[in-house]
Order: sequence, then C-alpha cells, then structure tokens
Amino acid sequence: MPDDILNSFTNGPDQDGRFGTFGGRFVSETLMPLILELERHYKHARTDQCFWDEMHHLWTHYVGRPSPLYFAARLTERLGGARIYMKRDELNHTGAHKINNVLGQIILARRMGKTRIIAETGAGQHGVATATVCAKFGLDCVVYMGAHDVQRQAPNVFRMKLLGARVVPVTSGRGTLKDAMNDALRDWVTNVRDTFYCIGTVAGPHPYPAMVRDFQAIIGKETKEQMMAAEGRLPDTLIAAIGGGSNAMGLFFPFLDDSEVQIIGVEAGGKGVDAAMAHCASITGGRPGVLHGNRTYLLQDADGQILEGFSISAGLDYPGIGPEHAWLHEVERATYVAVTDADALHAFRLCCETEGIIPALEPSHALAHAMKIAPALPPEHIICMNMCGRGDKDIFTVARALGVEMEGG
Ligand SMILES: *Cc1c(COP(=O)(O)O)cnc(C)c1O
Repeated sequence: MPDDILNSFTNGPDQDGRFGTFGGRFVSETLMPLILELERHYKHARTDQCFWDEMHHLWTHYVGRPSPLYFAARLTERLGGARIYMKRDELNHTGAHKINNVLGQIILARRMGKTRIIAETGAGQHGVATATVCAKFGLDCVVYMGAHDVQRQAPNVFRMKLLGARVVPVTSGRGTLKDAMNDALRDWVTNVRDTFYCIGTVAGPHPYPAMVRDFQAIIGKETKEQMMAAEGRLPDTLIAAIGGGSNAMGLFFPFLDDSEVQIIGVEAGGKGVDAAMAHCASITGGRPGVLHGNRTYLLQDADGQILEGFSISAGLDYPGIGPEHAWLHEVERATYVAVTDADALHAFRLCCETEGIIPALEPSHALAHAMKIAPALPPEHIICMNMCGRGDKDIFTVARALGVEMEGG
C-alpha cells in the first residue's frame, strides 16, 4: 500500500474517512466503537506482510488469480477501431470479483477473533461469496436480503443455503438492498462481541470504502502488469460498470496517478436517465446526500427520500455510489456515463457471438460503452474493460427480455 505521495489521487481518504467532501463516518454513537475497532485492526493488517501473504495464497489457490487479461480480437475487428482488452474477473471462483473483497474481510475477521459473519445482499452475489468463504473457514453466516429480492433471486438464495448460510428476508422499509443494509447494521450493534459485518461494495462508513477498495485493487495491479507484458505500455482507456463501485474502484485505483489513462465508470441507465427514476445512475441522475454512514451521490426525491432505482441488472441497483467515485467525479479524474438496458443487452449478445464469452449483465454495461466509443478511435488506442462477472445467473433475465420462452425461469 502506498504511503502519502505529493499530489497523488491515491492518498485518500483523510483520517476522518473523507474523500474531498464525500465519505466520512455518519454513524450512531452505538456503532462508533465497532467502527473504530475495525479501523484499528485494518490499519494494522494493511501493512502486515503476513496478512497479504495469506490473501495471495488464497487468491492463487482458492479464487484462481491472477485472472487473465484477454485481447478480444473478433470484437475489435467487428467494431473497427480501438483495441479492446477484457480483464477476466468473471473466471474467479463464484463467478465475479466479489470474492476478492470477501476473502480480505474474513481473514481480517478471523484475526479479530470474530466467529459470526453478517452481510447484506441485493442480487445475492455478495451473499453467495460471503457464504462461500464462511463455509471454507467454518464460520457462522447470516445474510440479510430484501424480501422482494429473496423472491426474485431464488437460485442465489438456494446457493447460500447449500453453503450453510442463514438468509434473513428483510421486510422493513421497502424490503430492498438499502433496507437489508440497515438491518445488518442493526444486527452488528446488538451482537458486538462475536460479529463481523462484511460489506459488499465500496460503501458504508469509513474504513469500509477504503478497505474494500484496497482488497479489490488486485484487479488493477494485475491489469497494469499484464498490459505492460502484452503491449509494453499502459492502456489509454479503462472502463468498468458501477453498482456501488467496487469492481470499478479495484480496476481504477492503481491507475489514478497515470494521468495519460482515461477512466470511465458506467452507471445503469435503465430505461434512460431522463425516464423518471427508471434508472440507477447515482452520479448521472442523482445528487449528494447521506446514506449508510457516508456522504455521496444518491438517487433521491425532492425531500431527500431515497428512491429505488431500476436496471435490468440486479447487481447494479444500489441507490448510491462509493464516496471515492463521487470525489473522482468532482475533481474530474474520472468520467461517469450511463448506459441503457437496451444497449447493455445488445453488448451482451455481441460478446456471446464474437468472443464465446457469456458476460454478466453488469459488465455488459461497461462493454456497451466500449462499443460506443471504439469505432471512432484509432487502432493504436487501447481500451481495457473489466469483465467482472459471468452471465450464467442472467440467462433467464435475458431470455425474458428477448421474449424467449424457457423452462425453469
Ligand atoms: C455486485 C456486482 C456488481 C456491482 O457491484 P460493484 O461494487 O459496483 O462492483 C457488478 N458486477 C457484478 C458481476 C456483480 O456481481
């Protein structure tokens, strides 16, 4: 981990967890001691070589890292412009990048002597990754999930149960991911002694956004080395999809000080950012406020009520975005755009047909933006997108969107 470098984009957050005017620690007094204990342990772990040795061992032997950096030759040829590379994090154990972070938090929990892990999940991907690592280490696992999501995401609920986790349907509020996160925070305060709260993205109160970023930064570190080996230089453009922003932060972070590298985050545009809240684009279509212990861009109405977003991709429908992204947007180090469901679906299909890769709907958003800009760029321009998840989980959604009848959906 880098120490403070003069004028570096990688110095944040400050000691109060702020990235510029974003982030921070907006929590109740009852939660504060837990957050401070976590911060103390993480501060120690992040400079402890033993901690990172254990991470790397498991990344290699359990997750399957490093994930390949893959040149998408046929897609590049079809688009007729920039060269497109994919960072293949969909090849990780459990099919997405989530496990990079879960491993880090659970190794930390074990060092802290915690035996019970709680998590929130929306689409179920983070819940599955957490249940997986808990099974591996023999830890109790409780996953809070909006009641509505429990219905929609039956296969992931069953996976979590097979892995030995208890799934708690959340009916408070509107029974969504936001409410599941609130219930998990409540559980944490009432079970202080043995419980560790494993957050699934670069959100929550400090130190979570920085800690999750540090665990996901392995994506960008590998990409940098692999790109140097493949092309002898850095990519010109990085593109990643954004739900809460963890796969994107992981890819972007090691490149923040490479000013020649353009950085683009892609939010879920749903039916269009102009359509009344039929999207999940927190930066493109929201405004700053406080949720889950940090200040960031949020989907909210005129009274500051948090709105439920909409996207064809369940993994992108968190109503906020990690505070570091809000700051990168404000200081204009990164650009944030929105891609619609229709464009993501088109990219999904083209990726299947030209590369033999069935992508998750989340990275299909990133790919759609790459497809949008690639044709107008010269052939020496290099785009690298984060293929952060595989699409097996999404085939029923895609079938429905294409009007295809399929059994078992
Ligand atoms: C969870 C998930 C996302 C969204 O989360 P981020 O924190 O924004 O990365 C994106 N893609 C996949 C495949 C996911 O599982």
